[in-house]
Amino acid sequence: MPEKLMLRNRDWASGIVEQSPDYFRKLSALQKPEYFWIGCADARVPANVITGLEPGEVFVHRNVANMVHSADLNLMSALQFAIEGLGIRKIIVCGHYGCGGVNAACEEGHSNGLVDHWIAPIKSLRHSHADELGALDEHAQRDRLAELNVLSSVTRIAESPILIEASAQGHSIEIHGMIYSLVDGQLSLLETSVKSM
Ligand SMILES: [Zn+2]
Repeated sequence: MPEKLMLRNRDWASGIVEQSPDYFRKLSALQKPEYFWIGCADARVPANVITGLEPGEVFVHRNVANMVHSADLNLMSALQFAIEGLGIRKIIVCGHYGCGGVNAACEEGHSNGLVDHWIAPIKSLRHSHADELGALDEHAQRDRLAELNVLSSVTRIAESPILIEASAQGHSIEIHGMIYSLVDGQLSLLETSVKSM
């Protein structure tokens, strides 16, 4: 099976060199992406592909259900490097409708193992927004919960010590929440209460 990937890689790389002989030499000399993307690990939401961005244009962190845990050293290390190392000033948290992590958080009386700990904040959101969600049908509830989870992640990023430090140093950083539809491939911007810092 890895052979198939190697063959596809060679086809891809040679196709690019054919069109732009200096492509890899230039790209290997400098990493200067404009965006830091925090998205879901779901195989159907690859950041570069759905935004039409080229390699080198977006720095990416993905995990199950695009969660932001303040003690997640993986994410926080990437966030710090994005801001301090790469000089990125635009952060995007992107969730998606039909997210398996959000769906799992809606299940009652069923254990999913370790991932239940990971998605516990989504369950909390579900309870704290019970009135709003209760007015919707089941499908719409899950869609709205996916949006609320993005908004919550945006707030957690904004409140992280790394962003507070960046703000104290006078850096203006935008944090945007987005949601992606698997059904039609469209990205939508969510209204957040977090302004540029
Ligand atoms: Zn997902």
